[in-house]
Amino acid sequence: MSIKVTIDGKEVSARDGDNIIDVAAENGVYIPSLCYVKGKPCLGTCRTCSVKVNGNVMAACTIPVAEGMEIEVNEPEVTDMRKALVELLFSEGNHNCPSCEKSGRCELQATGYEVDMMVSRFPYRFTPRVVDHSSKTIFLQRDRCIFCQRCVDMIRDEKTGEKIFSIKGRGTHARIEIDTDLANEMSPQQVREASDLCPVGCIIDSTQGYDDPIGKRKFEVKTIRDRALERTHR
Ligand code: SF4
Ligand code: SF4
Repeated sequence: MSIKVTIDGKEVSARDGDNIIDVAAENGVYIPSLCYVKGKPCLGTCRTCSVKVNGNVMAACTIPVAEGMEIEVNEPEVTDMRKALVELLFSEGNHNCPSCEKSGRCELQATGYEVDMMVSRFPYRFTPRVVDHSSKTIFLQRDRCIFCQRCVDMIRDEKTGEKIFSIKGRGTHARIEIDTDLANEMSPQQVREASDLCPVGCIIDSTQGYDDPIGKRKFEVKTIRDRALERTHR
């Protein structure tokens, strides 16, 4: 059923039940996101898609549109909130882009550019995080994990459906883990899928790195904003 909502004051048509982030993209309005993948169940973990809905701040990927809904995306307070959330992710992890295999292909880095981030307003924590080299197929560069849970929910053993990745601990003790035995059974294609799905450079294909030349890397060819609006996979 078609309904009407407003986005930044402009009335648009939408399919009842579609989420705000998809409706906005279909109408040319970019909302950043780091955990949401079009066509997959919403995770709602990163909150970088926060917008105002009828005056209240909500994560756009988690909320289905409803008749008469008033959505504010490019409103100063919530725009700054999204920027602050991106800055927090940089200050919580250890991100050294020039030496990162994902640089130029990284959704966090590309989103940092989109929200006009120059430096984080929050103190950098420099938390020590141990790299996991235990599997033959993947190494986990934990410094860069933003705990989006994409890998946990969307990458499974192809035979048994068991989860390969998990998050252990909470808060400052949270840590991404990999089941080494299951990871060793992953096909090269599944390893590449997991590495591409990770929005940052945490899941690294141990057989490949720096494979795209500078200037031809994913977000140098087309911005994350344009990809989001085209609904192509990031
Ligand atoms: S994961 Fe992204 S933001 Fe972090 S160091 Fe690598 S390129 Fe930079
Ligand atoms: S390893 Fe990557 S995909 Fe998995 S939770 Fe961390 S950032 Fe997300």
